Amino acid sequence: ELETINIFSVCTGHLYERFMKIMMLSVTQSTKNPVHFYLLDTFLSPGFREEALILSSSLGCKITFVSYKWPPWLRSQSTIQRKIWGYKILFLDVLFPQGLDRIIFVDADQVFREDIRELWDLNLEEHVYGYVPFCDSNKDTLGFQFWREGYWKDLLGDKPYHISALYLVDLNKFRDDGVGDILRATYESLSRDPGSLSNLDQDLPNFVSPQVPIFSLPQEWLWCESWCSLDTKVESKTIDLCNNPLKKEPKIDMARRIIKGELFEKSWEDMDEEVKLRIGGEEIEERHDEL
Ligand code: UDP
Ligand code: CA
Repeated sequence: ELETINIFSVCTGHLYERFMKIMMLSVTQSTKNPVHFYLLDTFLSPGFREEALILSSSLGCKITFVSYKWPPWLRSQSTIQRKIWGYKILFLDVLFPQGLDRIIFVDADQVFREDIRELWDLNLEEHVYGYVPFCDSNKDTLGFQFWREGYWKDLLGDKPYHISALYLVDLNKFRDDGVGDILRATYESLSRDPGSLSNLDQDLPNFVSPQVPIFSLPQEWLWCESWCSLDTKVESKTIDLCNNPLKKEPKIDMARRIIKGELFEKSWEDMDEEVKLRIGGEEIEERHDEL
């Protein structure tokens, strides 16, 4: 019997909810294994919850909506964006059923080209979690990689700065080693300075990496155009849409442009259409417009 693969994801807003459904489609169709999504309930719209459940029965995967009340003793965040980033990393020990051994976080706007099982089966070699190092093959944006000098360089030494769009967590080790407490304590102390942790969910695990080492996942598990060179796209196993520091482009345009062509069995637009068909599309949208 094939093992169930657990996925954690978070999102808010109509655009990212649309991306999330496409992510669910691409993950589920990449693998023969059963897939169980754990989605952060807190910021989802009622319409999305309903559609996601219809989609999951159409795709044959499972969904559990998870939530955890931000503890009053932990510094709060005022914007939804930063709250979401907090939920992405701070409560991994308490968000999921205690029997859950392993989970993969996937960004809502990510698309899989390869079987996620290959990532699921990776040996973390006694590490609590594995992240993909930032690409440095796109020379145009190298100058924006702030961790290559100064403060971050001193902190990380020869170790890479890792990107937080995708990560694999050994939940048993995470709980046994009390990593949640380490992350929350570090967050509490760093967030005293509002200028600190500007990429909260990414800076935090990189910052604590001297105490809680990060396993480096193979580079091809996360390709994003802003930081990786075009000639490495063919090897990519997932594609993330990430903001480009050099040009402002709406994410939908980026999705349509980047996720198409011979590298993809289905273009982004095909997947967007397929999701609509599977959930009975317009009828539901109209119903919610009326509400
Ligand atoms: N996100 C969201 N709504 C937003 C912005 C971000 O739900 O309005 C979540 C979503 O899960 C997304 C993640 O935060 O995948 C990271 O944001 P984004 O992908 O925009 O960051 P980037 O990859 O460009 O760094
Ligand atoms: Ca992204």
